[in-house]
Amino acid sequence: MTELHTADIVVAGAGHNALITAAYLARAGKSVLMVDARPIPGGGVATEEYLPGYFMDSCSTGHTIIQSNPVIAQDTLGLVSDHGLAYVDPDPVARVAMPDGEQVGMYLDPERTYEEFARFSRRDADTYLAMLEDWDRAKVAFGAANNTPIGWGKPLDALLDELPNGGTWRRRRALSAVDVIRHEFEEEHIQAFLLWEACQTFGSVDLPGSGVMPYSIMGGRQKRSWTIPVGGSGRLTDALVSVIEAHGGRIECGVTVARLLLEDGRCVGVESTDGTQYLAREAVLSTIHVKHLLDMAPREAWGEDFVYGVETYDIGIPLFAAFLVMDEVPTFAGKSPADTAVSSGLAQWPQQVMDMVRDIRDRKPVIGSAWTLIATPTIVDPSRAPEGKHTVKLLVPCSHVAPYGGASWDDVKERHADAMVEYVATAIPNVTEAHIEARIVKSPLDIERWNPHMINGCAHGGDKGVPFSGPLRPVPGWASHELPIPGLYQTGGTTHPGGSITGSPGRNAAMVMMRDLGLEFPG
Ligand SMILES: Cc1cc2nc3c(=O)[nH]c(=O)nc-3n(C[C@H](O)[C@H](O)[C@H](O)COP(=O)(O)OP(=O)(O)OC[C@H]3O[C@@H](n4cnc5c(N)ncnc54)[C@H](O)[C@@H]3O)c2cc1C
Repeated sequence: MTELHTADIVVAGAGHNALITAAYLARAGKSVLMVDARPIPGGGVATEEYLPGYFMDSCSTGHTIIQSNPVIAQDTLGLVSDHGLAYVDPDPVARVAMPDGEQVGMYLDPERTYEEFARFSRRDADTYLAMLEDWDRAKVAFGAANNTPIGWGKPLDALLDELPNGGTWRRRRALSAVDVIRHEFEEEHIQAFLLWEACQTFGSVDLPGSGVMPYSIMGGRQKRSWTIPVGGSGRLTDALVSVIEAHGGRIECGVTVARLLLEDGRCVGVESTDGTQYLAREAVLSTIHVKHLLDMAPREAWGEDFVYGVETYDIGIPLFAAFLVMDEVPTFAGKSPADTAVSSGLAQWPQQVMDMVRDIRDRKPVIGSAWTLIATPTIVDPSRAPEGKHTVKLLVPCSHVAPYGGASWDDVKERHADAMVEYVATAIPNVTEAHIEARIVKSPLDIERWNPHMINGCAHGGDKGVPFSGPLRPVPGWASHELPIPGLYQTGGTTHPGGSITGSPGRNAAMVMMRDLGLEFPG
């Protein structure tokens, strides 16, 4: 075995969470060797030149949630101060078309959002301001719980009990997003708008455990908008890679891990599909999906509880994406280009959203979408496209079972994209062939082929309902980044607090590993 393939820490998968853990370890003096299946690091935090001069975010665009992680909020790794990362907070924050042709806008100025909501219901607009205040008091508890490894601090319910309305928050937390919205807001456009926002992380908004989403998403967006990195999502990855490499770490791409190497029951490295072995002197960190990880070591090495927990783990809701090049800003009917938000979309009524997610969970093919996101980052960041041109990403949830009777998504993805474009044009009339200069379509199958961590095109590491959250994620007893095989740690969206660009699983895993390695965690 060559020294080239040996390091203190071997990391399997280089998504943003694993990169964050690796950056902490490299800064603490550990030699780190990362391998990733893709040609570039970053997983869902990547910006790629899909067409000459067009830099598209192949997955994530919005980085709102990570803004409250100390990695960004306190710049603990120097990503902003020393490694070129910069963010922009777009205003307007959102514009969403409703099934009856109405539109709801949201702005960084809360008073302006208030006035917009008051067009539909002054009572709901008042409730919205009260909601923001309530969230402001509670967010410290949720932030502390998300940015602390499970078992290290007070449990979330204990933190909530310290609030004057702790009981309300505990109940809200156990409800579904739809329950909360319907209980607290009366007007259907406002309900539909809030649910559209709550759907952003592709959770099952009709199931218990999603009740805080309307609060956390609206609170974050009202404060910072749908924050995006200048130059593209991949600039976060570039900054993290820069930290790792500045401290001697290495990243090898195009390496797919096929199995874990065990010695006397301990994980001592990984082996790639071509048989190359990567050996760890001290520990192995994985961001491989837990469903795949199970097959990478003998079943008896995991133990029955762990196997049961992984087998019953819900991988979440798949998504479908179409990337467009346009010669104009997608412009809503009756509005001007300046009214389009980077994060815009089409919503249907809450019952239709509930029916859609239910059908997806029931593995029925789904035609159409009750939730549509239209992301146009070039509105605020022209560096991503040639002058006057725009990159537009259409995103919808979908079933991994192909619609239209297709045997495979490969057969029907262009037809589905046509249907999406046609539907979007009902509210945004210039999203038509006359203004679409190019189109790249990714079905859930393509998304999984692109990144094995996104099984069936589920990009958020697994559902975040009650059975798969907090101390139960990914598996009861194994929620604090250590796995049943000694020497093996886990990060990424399958671990607390879950998927999206939060960086929290990455920083939390660093805290656990550094404790075990006898290193001081810097913050
Ligand atoms: C189209 C799309 C749009 C999205 N938009 C947003 C958004 O705007 N905002 C947001 O917050 N989230 C968004 N997401 C979700 C977000 O991208 C993910 O939740 C997030 O990237 C998960 O990060 P992670 O660190 O857990 O792992 P990932 O980003 O999934 O990275 C995991 C890495 O592990 C590697 N890997 C997996 N298995 C192996 C193996 N066997 N061998 C070697 N390497 C392996 C993969 O190649 C990958 O690089 C979007 C996702 C998609 C698909």
